[in-house]
Amino acid sequence: MSTTPDDFQEALDATLPILQSMTKNLRAKPKATRTSLENLKASLPPSFEKSTGPSEEPIKSAESSEQLKPTSPVASGNDDGRLAKLEVLKKSILSCTRCPHLVTSRTQVVYGVGNPFAELLFVGEAPGEEEDLRGEPFIGKAGQLLTKIISAMEYTREEIFIANVLKCRPDMPEGESGNRKPKPAEMATCLPWLTQQIELIKPKVIVALGLTAVEGLLGEPHTMRDVRGKWLEYHGVPLMPTYHPAYLLRNQTLAEKRKVWDDMLLVLEKLGRPISAKQRGYFLEKA
Ligand code: SF4
Repeated sequence: MSTTPDDFQEALDATLPILQSMTKNLRAKPKATRTSLENLKASLPPSFEKSTGPSEEPIKSAESSEQLKPTSPVASGNDDGRLAKLEVLKKSILSCTRCPHLVTSRTQVVYGVGNPFAELLFVGEAPGEEEDLRGEPFIGKAGQLLTKIISAMEYTREEIFIANVLKCRPDMPEGESGNRKPKPAEMATCLPWLTQQIELIKPKVIVALGLTAVEGLLGEPHTMRDVRGKWLEYHGVPLMPTYHPAYLLRNQTLAEKRKVWDDMLLVLEKLGRPISAKQRGYFLEKA
């Protein structure tokens, strides 16, 4: 008997809540190997992937080479050999075992997602629980807000690149759920991977989301008051620190949203992108 997209959706709808509940309530988290995920993907009916929207995507591995293809004229570029180099780098990153404590706790390494020719790179601190399961950075609520910011900048997620300083989810103390911040030593161990990605992707601007990402990149702590809205530099690339979207979810005032938006306007100016009057007016207090 052949499997239809509806059968698959039904099975996923029944399975996902159980996995989510196990993830929340059990010390031993459910895990899937990359091979199992690839086998699952290979067994999908041909029309299945097209039939689901972004919010209904099945759990997937970050290993899909689709993530390395340019997806729009804005974001595409002449291949200067970087696609092949990025594939080699990706294989090394996905099999990295430099942090034994994270190797045993992670579901998979979260390589990053987006366009290998991106002019804009967003960098966060580390994958959380959902990102670890899905193999993609910024897909939870904070990720959805980041997508809105990207779209207000008139980009799509496919046109830019998104990655974290730490590529494996920080492990949690036994019996505790949730996410923890990566430690400076963990970030320092992982940072060379991101640096190699940056050297190959060659973004024109990097946006660091949150102070932990800033510390991970620059190697020392800063305060948001000191760095937000100011141009710094990482390996010769202009770096704009701004608040993490999770901060905006906790502080939903126009004033805080405008601070991040001011930073994004600076980024758009640096990139030479046209900025409409409407964009300039986002999140301004009404007189
Ligand atoms: S956090 Fe980075 S350095 Fe550590 S195991 Fe994961 S990929 Fe390797």
